[in-house]
Amino acid sequence: MSDGTEPPGGRADDHAPTTPGWSCGSCGDEWPCATKRSRLIAEYGDDRAMLSVYLGSCLAAAAEDLRAAPVMSLQDRFIGWLPRGARRR
Ligand SMILES: [Zn+2]
Repeated sequence: MSDGTEPPGGRADDHAPTTPGWSCGSCGDEWPCATKRSRLIAEYGDDRAMLSVYLGSCLAAAAEDLRAAPVMSLQDRFIGWLPRGARRR
């Protein structure tokens, strides 16, 4: 029963966040790690708004888990890496 879809989670190569520390489950860097960032860009493509919504929800959850961390640095970490401005074709 294989129709080409991957089951969510559980893959070692997923670069999914681990909670409550919010480090990458695959490479151990602060999430989103460099690999995950490039995958998110590839996954969402031009749909930057949806990506911002997704990262915003991650940021909100991380802020709950990482209460000791300054909010500004969390914003920088989760959203600040996004390329700014509209991409011209
Ligand atoms: Zn990673």
